[in-house]
Amino acid sequence: MILVIRQGTPETELNKIKKKMVELGCSINESIGTNYHVLGLVGDTSAIDPNLLKANVYVERLIRVQEPYKKANRLFHPEDTIVSVDGREIGGKGLAIMAGPCSVESEEQIIEIAREIKKAGANFLRGGAFKPRTSPYSFQGLMYEGLDLLKLAKQETGLPIVSELMAANHIERFIEDVDVIQIGARNMQNFDLLKEVGRTNKPILLKRGLSATIEELLMSAEYIMAEGNEQVILCERGIRTFETYTRNTLDISAVPAIKKLSHLPVIIDPSHAAGMWWMVESLSRAAIAVGADGLMIEVHSDPSNAKSDGAQSLKPDNFASMMETLKELANAVGRTI
Ligand code: PEP
Ligand code: MN
Repeated sequence: MILVIRQGTPETELNKIKKKMVELGCSINESIGTNYHVLGLVGDTSAIDPNLLKANVYVERLIRVQEPYKKANRLFHPEDTIVSVDGREIGGKGLAIMAGPCSVESEEQIIEIAREIKKAGANFLRGGAFKPRTSPYSFQGLMYEGLDLLKLAKQETGLPIVSELMAANHIERFIEDVDVIQIGARNMQNFDLLKEVGRTNKPILLKRGLSATIEELLMSAEYIMAEGNEQVILCERGIRTFETYTRNTLDISAVPAIKKLSHLPVIIDPSHAAGMWWMVESLSRAAIAVGADGLMIEVHSDPSNAKSDGAQSLKPDNFASMMETLKELANAVGRTI
């Protein structure tokens, strides 16, 4: 339930309303913008008598929230959320461009790629240290050594690090070493992991599950936010459909849908959607045109020898030329890179 509070309501009256709601067993999510002031009620609202609230002159309107997600709901927070990472913003006018290899493979590899993507205009370095592979016989990542190498690349370039957390027992190291904790598609509904990252104060990049609906994605964001961490960035990375030509089907419509339903920033990962490097530029253009707040792109200096996802990785020079096009396109839609 949402209480829209009248502009200019005295503090004492506001506090009375809040106190009453807490007494009735709800917790309050307050959001104040230039033209609105709302109290979002989370919890069991059945004890609340709507007629008594309607009788209160300081309550302008009462809205019943139909959706099961509350804190992630735009009704609770009408303005776009902007997540700040190391002086950079995700969800504002500037686009977040996260680029880097699927897996961190060596010091030389990650530093070279980090330098190249920075030169081309990327503002975050992505790289997997713990890899969720379909086969247990495939490369599983350099693990903690991978995190150390990412830190070296950050020292070299200043780019903040985005890396995937797979298990709750690694969380302390991720809090120390990583700027944005990625929750991968395969763990989107690992609810215990979501609760764990919800108890940190790190920005979380939450990828859409392989076959998850938009509502399920928003419910996973809600798990994180319900624990107190509201710095969530959503990522559309393609979903399973009957189509087999592409690795996944990029659900472009997820962006306007999520923007309507939620205030959280949403980025697109065209690399995992397409599975083919030559399609990444077209899908990136579509992502910017449709209103995404950023991109996650896999880049590798030697894709044919990459330890994972080489087929979908752009070479640094292709990434750089794509970025030139994307900068123009971003300007055309009122965004910047
Ligand atoms: C990745 O980013 O390398 C990755 C494994 O992505 P996803 O979880 O979207 O498959
Ligand atoms: Mn990958």
